[in-house]
Amino acid sequence: MVACARTKEAVVIDPGADPTRIAEQCLEYSVKHVACTHGHRNHAGAKDEVKARVGGATALSFLDAKHYLRSADRYLVDGDRLEFGDFAMEVIFTPGHSPGSLCFKVGNHLFTGDTLRAGDIGPTDLPDIDLPRQVTAVLSKLLPLPENTVIYPGHGPTTTVGQERRQNVVVEMLRRAG
Ligand SMILES: [Zn+2]
Repeated sequence: MVACARTKEAVVIDPGADPTRIAEQCLEYSVKHVACTHGHRNHAGAKDEVKARVGGATALSFLDAKHYLRSADRYLVDGDRLEFGDFAMEVIFTPGHSPGSLCFKVGNHLFTGDTLRAGDIGPTDLPDIDLPRQVTAVLSKLLPLPENTVIYPGHGPTTTVGQERRQNVVVEMLRRAG
């Protein structure tokens, strides 16, 4: 969850499971959006239950909604902005891990779902993955962001854009390819 401290308006990101625990964390907030980086069950499975408990509009890329048969209140495209309190969460289209994978950016905080994780990219052994597109998205949309951008992957430790420019396997692959 990301929240505006002044207004207490918040966004829930990638509710895969545990709607009760998520609802408890949202008790003192007004949830405006329940947003999913992509349609895989472990990132979107509890979005409707979370909405039923805490409110907010569910949001997902149209491509993943169609591919994984998930409905949402709002279908997101590149450049959309989800407003909450004094902030807006910017939608960045980063397809590859799934047809409609998205990353979300609030100020210098970036939520990457399964598109990028510390030192690596998300799991590449799933049926829908288009690895070249995912690598292209990481290189063209994420790593050019300011190097102090803090990255919160869907799994594993946080990192920064600067750190990933130096250590990510995608960059290393390119370096080796010359
Ligand atoms: Zn996934």
